[in-house]
Order: sequence, then structure tokens, then C-alpha cells
Amino acid sequence: MLKKLFQSFRSPLRKPQQHVRTTPEVLSSSQHSLQRNQFSRYAVNIVERLQTAGYQAYLVGGCVRDMMLGITPKDFDVATSATPEQIRAEFRNARIIGRRFKLVHIHFGREIIEVATFRANHPIDDEDEDSNQSSRNESGRILRDNVYGTLEDDAQRRDFTINALYYDPVTERVLDYANGVHDIRNRLIRLIGDPQQRYKEDPVRMLRAVRFAAKLDFGIEKHSATPIRPLAPMLRDIPSARLFEEVLKLFLSGYAEATFEMLVDLELFEPLFPASSKALEYNPTYTHTLISEALANTDLRIKQNKPVTPAFLFAALLWPALPARVLRLQERGMPPIPAMQEAAHELITEQCQRIAIPKRFTMPIREIWDMQERLPRRSGKRADLLLENPRFRAGYDFLLLRELAGEETDGLGEWWTDYQDANDSGRRDMIRDLGSKPDATGQAPRKRRRSSSGKRKRAGVDGAE
Ligand code: ATP
Ligand code: MG
Repeated sequence: MLKKLFQSFRSPLRKPQQHVRTTPEVLSSSQHSLQRNQFSRYAVNIVERLQTAGYQAYLVGGCVRDMMLGITPKDFDVATSATPEQIRAEFRNARIIGRRFKLVHIHFGREIIEVATFRANHPIDDEDEDSNQSSRNESGRILRDNVYGTLEDDAQRRDFTINALYYDPVTERVLDYANGVHDIRNRLIRLIGDPQQRYKEDPVRMLRAVRFAAKLDFGIEKHSATPIRPLAPMLRDIPSARLFEEVLKLFLSGYAEATFEMLVDLELFEPLFPASSKALEYNPTYTHTLISEALANTDLRIKQNKPVTPAFLFAALLWPALPARVLRLQERGMPPIPAMQEAAHELITEQCQRIAIPKRFTMPIREIWDMQERLPRRSGKRADLLLENPRFRAGYDFLLLRELAGEETDGLGEWWTDYQDANDSGRRDMIRDLGSKPDATGQAPRKRRRSSSGKRKRAGVDGAE
């Protein structure tokens, strides 16, 4: 009894700021630009079937947001009042997947529609907590989150207002609980609820704010931007496997260059890439140019539908942090080549503690870096052997990137460009010309031949496989 009385005094003070209405603004088909036939017919079909079975069901999240902006959605998400088990009972091609949240994937050939049960925000009062379903750590971070809720609850627990729009393809109405349509019109990323609390619950939301701002060319609303710098260090506690996935989304969505600028500006880059962030401090122009050129090329390749490999990206992000380490080891008496090997190993191991880069990518990072030591050594049959190496293209692109950032290589990139363009006898001449120089030291000849095109190939993030 006393406890109840106490709670009734305390609860209103501890409740988070409410930005979500319990009654949504309802936009009829004439008040918005969405059309049912623009959405995946499978997703629309799922919504119809769930509704016929008596459940509430809507298209939600990124697909509604992107459609309103005239962008083709990456995927289609459905939110429903049906539980995962109830969803599975309706669809034979449904699979329950349980990573952070329990979700249902419904498969249609290669297309997968993600169907999620309405979820509620985390109960704030300790007394409310059911430790089987939800838990927070001492800084307020949500560790598990499987509390089902109503449609209103579901809108409230979403991250940004523009991600909390629900489209019913049957009535063609949009439900807007958090003024998302207003923020879409004003091109603003705004957290739902109290920004500081929402970032503390899940610090990855800071990265998501940047990702959407860069992708949509939106601003981050003032109150949603202010807490980011002070809370950025919280990213250090996020599991490294989750951060790897987020970092791929940040840098492989076609807006990596703008994303990088924003991450640095909001001090989010440091907790993700501590060593590179130091390099950015000590050697700003070179580090910044190398990373942003690599990212600009990734963006370009994605727009051209060309393959990109995360290995090249990580190789570029970490490369500027290498020299300081190599130097430190050399000062301790290690010869240059072992020092380089050891520094590369240390740097990657350290980075993997923050961002769990899988082995299938760390190996090629090392190979791209090793290639930088091998490209200057071209005498005899070495140049031809290097050309046949499956990593040659990535290594060569990386060399051009280093030159673009201002590294002095004595024209090595141009030599390789010419060598690839030359015919057999031209190649023999080029190798013969090297004879006068001790190439094992990495010196390239000063006198260079120009290829017929005379053009330098641009550095690119190449699949290289
Ligand atoms: P895109 O798929 O284009 O990257 P999206 O908005 O669909 O963007 P998803 O990661 O697919 O992003 O998430 C789907 C929806 O789930 C989001 O729109 C948002 O409403 C909600 N959501 C995802 N992650 C979080 C989070 N960390 N906190 C709160 N809500 C989230
Ligand atoms: Mg999505």
C-alpha cells in the first residue's frame, strides 16, 4: 500500500518526456504521396493476410520514410499485433529469428520481408522490470528488449520521428504518432522522447542519426544533436560484432564520405577507430585526404553498381595509423620489414576489440598492405608475378590512393599504370630501364615512360577478386 502511494508520487516525475501522441494524426490517401503499388507486393500481401486473420498490421519504418522522400527502399518492414508464433502459424514460409529481438522473416524467393510484433518501450521504474524479458545496465543501456506492446507503444519505442510512420496499404492511410511527416517536410532527424535518455538506452542510435542524416541529406535537430558529443564514449561498451554491422552500414550505403565528416564532427569517429582518430590529430591533411578519397570512391562504385570490399575500406581507414607504430618498433631496434608486419598485426588486433572485423576481411587487409611493400620491387620476373597476384588490383588502387593523399612514391603508381598498358616488348623495356636502379630498396627510376593514353588510372575501391 505504502509502496503504491510512493509510486504514485514518484512516477510522473520519472516518466520520460512524451512526444508520442496516443491518437495519431491520420493522413488519408489524398494527404500523402504514397501508393500501394509502389510497395513490395509480398509485403502488402502479408499485411492484408494478417489483417484478414484479425490482427493489426502496417508497413513501417524505412520503407514508408523513403517512399515519402521518393527514394527506393532497401527493404520492407511490417509491424503487427500478432506474436511471432501467431505470424508463423499464418505463413508457411516464415522463420522466427532471434538475435537481439525475436522477429519473423517471411521468404519469397530471394526477397525477405521482416515482420515484427509491436514492442513496448522499456519500463523505466525498476519495480516494473520483468528480468526475463528486459534488462538494462547501470548506465541505462537496454540489454534485452522483448516486451510486446500496443501500436502506440511500438511507435514510442522507435528511434526517430521519421521512422515511426505506419502505412496501411488496405485503407491507404498513414498513421503519424510523432510528427514524422512534419520532420520529413523539414528534413530533420529528431529522436522520439528525451534524446539523452534514448541515446543512453541504445548508443547505436547516435550512429543511426548520422547514417540517416547523411543518406537523406537531413539535419540533426538541435536537441537530438547536442547530447551526442558527451555521450559518444558510450559506444565503447557496445558489442564489437554489432558495431561491425553498423560500421558496414555507415560506410557501404553510398554516403560514406558525408558520413565520415559527420562522425568526426560529432566525435563519434574516435570510439570507433581510436588509432585512426589519433592519426587524424597528428597528421590531419594526409589522414583526412586518404580516408575521404577512399570513401568517395566507395560511394562512386556503389552508385555505379560495382563491387566493393570492406577490406579495402578498413585498409584505408587504418593505414594512416601505421607509420607511428612502425617507427616506435624501429626505435626499439626492429628492422623495417618485421616492424611493419608487427605494427600491422598490433593495429588490426586492437581495432578488432572495438569493431569485430571478421578474418575473411582482416586477411585481405594485410595482403593489401603487404602489396605496398612489394610494388616497388619489380626487377626480373617480379613485376609479372605481381600482376598475376589476385590482390594486385586492390594493392595498385591502394598505391594510387596513397599518392593522391600526398605520399611520395617517386612515380610508382604511374609506372604500374604504364606497365599494365604496355605490350610485351614495352614491358621488357620498362624492366630493363629499372636495371640501372637498385629496385630492392624500393627506388623507382626517375625517367618514366608515358603510355599511349598517358592517363593515370584513378584510385578505386576494387572488389579485386
Ligand atoms: P534502412 O533499412 O533504410 O537502413 P530503417 O529505418 O528501415 O532504414 P532498420 O535498421 O531496418 O532501419 O530498422 C527498421 C525500423 O526499426 C526503424 O525504422 C526504426 O523504427 C526501428 N529501429 C531500428 N533500430 C532501432 C533502434 N536502435 N532503436 C529504436 N528503433 C529502432
Ligand atoms: Mg529497414
